[in-house]
Amino acid sequence: MFRSGRKYQHLVHNTGCGCASPLLQQATSRLGEYSRRHFLRSIGATAVAGMMPLSAGAQSSVAPGKILLRQARLFDGKSNTLQQGTQVLIDGNRIVSIDRSNNPAPADATIIDCGDRVLMPGMIDAHWHSIYAAVPLNILSAGDPGIIFATSTAEAERTLMRGFTTVRDLGGPSFTFKQAIDSAIIPGPRIFPSGAMITTSGGHGDLRMPSEIPSNGGQLSVSELMGAAAIADDVGVLKQRVREQLLQGASQVKLVGGGGVSSPRSPLDISTFSQEELSAAVEVARDWNTYVTVHAYAPRTVQRALAAGVACIEHAHLMDEETARLFADKGVWLSMQPFLTMDDAASQSGPALERIKQLFAGTPKVYGFAQKYGFKVAWGSDVLFSPQLTPRQNVMLTHLANWYSNADTLRTATSVNAELLAMSNLRTPYAGKLGVVEKDALADMLVWDGNPLDDIRVIEDPQNRLSVIIKDGRIFKNTL
Ligand SMILES: [Zn+2]
Repeated sequence: MFRSGRKYQHLVHNTGCGCASPLLQQATSRLGEYSRRHFLRSIGATAVAGMMPLSAGAQSSVAPGKILLRQARLFDGKSNTLQQGTQVLIDGNRIVSIDRSNNPAPADATIIDCGDRVLMPGMIDAHWHSIYAAVPLNILSAGDPGIIFATSTAEAERTLMRGFTTVRDLGGPSFTFKQAIDSAIIPGPRIFPSGAMITTSGGHGDLRMPSEIPSNGGQLSVSELMGAAAIADDVGVLKQRVREQLLQGASQVKLVGGGGVSSPRSPLDISTFSQEELSAAVEVARDWNTYVTVHAYAPRTVQRALAAGVACIEHAHLMDEETARLFADKGVWLSMQPFLTMDDAASQSGPALERIKQLFAGTPKVYGFAQKYGFKVAWGSDVLFSPQLTPRQNVMLTHLANWYSNADTLRTATSVNAELLAMSNLRTPYAGKLGVVEKDALADMLVWDGNPLDDIRVIEDPQNRLSVIIKDGRIFKNTL
C-alpha cells in the first residue's frame, strides 16, 4: 500500500503545475483512504498472525490462578532494605497477601520456593518504542508492516524477558499491538501507548521522504499513515490529531517541541510548536483527564512547554540552571535517559552522532541539577532502530548508579516510574497499582539470583540472573 501511496505522489507531481485536478484529487483521496484502511487491516492480520505457540523464551501465558512465592527476600519497590523470609500469594492478576507466617499454601496454588533470592516488582521503562526499538531505520522507511510488526513482536518478548513488565510507549502504532499483548496472543510488557508522536513540519518525528515534501492538501505521508507521526501546523489540526490519538486509546499525549537526535533535518536547538499550540494540546488532554508530555532538548523549548502547563518533559539534556529551577517550582516530571558513551548509541552516525555527543555531556549535568533542586525524575532507555542496542536496556538502567544508590535506582525503575504512569489518571489502561509489591497491587514480579541492592550489575544479566518473571499473574519464566 505504501507503493500505491508513492505512485500517487508521482501523479500529483507530474501534473506540472503543483496542483492536482479535481478529478485526480478525488481519485487520489480514494486511493489514500484505501491505503489507510488496507494498512490498518494489515496490522490486524499481523496481530492475528501472532497467534502461535510461544517460543522457548516465555514459558507460559496460561490463565492466571493462585501462585505462592515462598522464602523470598522482598524489595517492595519503596523501602531501602529487604524483608527476609517473606511469602507472597497471588490470586488471578493481584497480590492478595504478603506475610512472614509461612501459612500453608492453598491446595490449588502453584508454589515457587525462592530460596532466599530477591523478589521485587516488575521493572518499568518510562520511554520506550514498542514498534521501533528493534526495527532498523531502512526497514522502517520501506514501510512494510509485515516485517515491522514481526520484528517488534519478537522484541516485545525479549523486553519482557529482560524484566520489563511495563513500558510507556512514546511514539508508534502500538494500539493494536498492545491489545495483542494484553489478550495474551503474544508475550510482552504492558504498554501505556501515546500513539503517533505529534510534530510540526520539520520537527523531530517529521520523517517524510523528500518526495513527500511539500505536503499536498490532505495527503498523509507514509509515516503518518503508519501512525508513527502526526504532522500539525496549526492549532485546529493539532487539536484534531491529539483527539485522534486519545480516541484510539492513548494513555498520554506525546508532542514534539523541537529537534532530535535521530532526525537528521531537525537540529537540537530548534523549537517547533508555539506556546499557544502547546497550551491547546494541554487543554485537550485535560478534557480527557490525562496529560501531555513534550520531547524537548534546548532550554527555550523546555521553558515554553513548562509555561504551557505540560506535566512532563522527555530528555531535556541541554537544560540550564534556570530551566532546572523551573522543573522544581512547577513540580513537572522529567523523563530522562542516561546516555553516557558511544556504547549507548552504536547505531548513530552523521549529524545524529554529533548531537548524541551533546547528550553525553548533558547527562551528568542534568542528574546534578535533579539532585540539587530535587525535581521528579523518571527513567527511560529510549532505544531506537537497533536490535544491537535493545539488549542494553538493563545497562541503561544501571547507569543510574553513577548518581543514585542501588535502592534509589531500583525505586526509580519501579515505584517512581509507576508514579509517572499514574499521571494518566482516568486514561490508564490497567486498573491497579504498578511498581510495588503490596496487597491488592497488580501481580508483576521478578525473582533475581543475586541481590541487586548490594550489586546493581545483577540487573545487567537477566538471562542468567533472572529466575522468575510474572506479569499480570502469569508465569513467563521460572527456572526454580
Ligand atoms: Zn523516544
